Amino acid sequence: MSGDPLGGATTADLLRRHDLRTTKALGQHFLVDPNTTRRIVEVAGVGPGDRVLEIGAGAGTLTRALAATGARVVAFEIDERLRPVLGEVLDGFDVDLRFADAATADLVGLVAGGSWTLVANLPYNVGTPLVLDLLRTAPAIERFVVMLQREAVERLAAPPGSRVYGLPSVVCAIHGEVEVAMRVPPTVFLPRPKVESAVAVVTRSPAPELADVAIDLAAQAFGQRRKMLRSSLRGVASSEDLAAAGIDPTARPEQVGAEGFLALAGVLR
Ligand code: SAM
Repeated sequence: MSGDPLGGATTADLLRRHDLRTTKALGQHFLVDPNTTRRIVEVAGVGPGDRVLEIGAGAGTLTRALAATGARVVAFEIDERLRPVLGEVLDGFDVDLRFADAATADLVGLVAGGSWTLVANLPYNVGTPLVLDLLRTAPAIERFVVMLQREAVERLAAPPGSRVYGLPSVVCAIHGEVEVAMRVPPTVFLPRPKVESAVAVVTRSPAPELADVAIDLAAQAFGQRRKMLRSSLRGVASSEDLAAAGIDPTARPEQVGAEGFLALAGVLR
């Protein structure tokens, strides 16, 4: 693969030389297409001095491309076996590499007070909760550039009424704007996943008042997605409260936009 972004050694060679097999459970599908890598870095829009938090460094393809822009990169990787690979790929690049589980590391403390872009290529069962959690708790992360399974990206970006609209869509809509920046075919990864991927960009907006209350209400409502709101929110919001927020009490949660949940939070205050 002459176009391999690692410059010289291909990712396959690299893994072979270090006697490494990828682990499915950790979602280890490494980017091996330079165009896709370049486009993700372009979408991230980072440059000299910018702070970047990368989650899931893998074989370092994206890490290296991000660092090459002059950005100051902190990269997390859970798999210690990748230490020698990353040592080789990132040789000469000033990257703060941390071998830890990003789901339990103190990322909020790490980014506090700064202005950061998060870049991640993760399995959706780690990536989606991480993004939603950091949207709620880490205002210092102003932009999220995340590659996930295509369906997971569609869920983040879904409008009310759509089949895949749910709690992730509400959290994203309350805290920012989501754009589906690109679709990514399985062919750009080693090994190839069975599913298509996509890159979502979430650009943070200032948090509305009562954002957390609104999200908690949405979580309760989507917990019983098929029920009417007057019954899924029984004991929390009456039919009168729902009506006062401009929500039909017989509606189901997928019919209510972020502003509806925010209005309800205001009524219940
Ligand atoms: N960024 C690289 C790329 O684009 O080629 C690797 C992407 S690969 C899809 C995901 C990487 O995330 C794997 O290297 C995996 O070991 C790592 N990973 C999975 N769960 C993680 C977690 N909870 N914390 C940190 N890294 C994790």
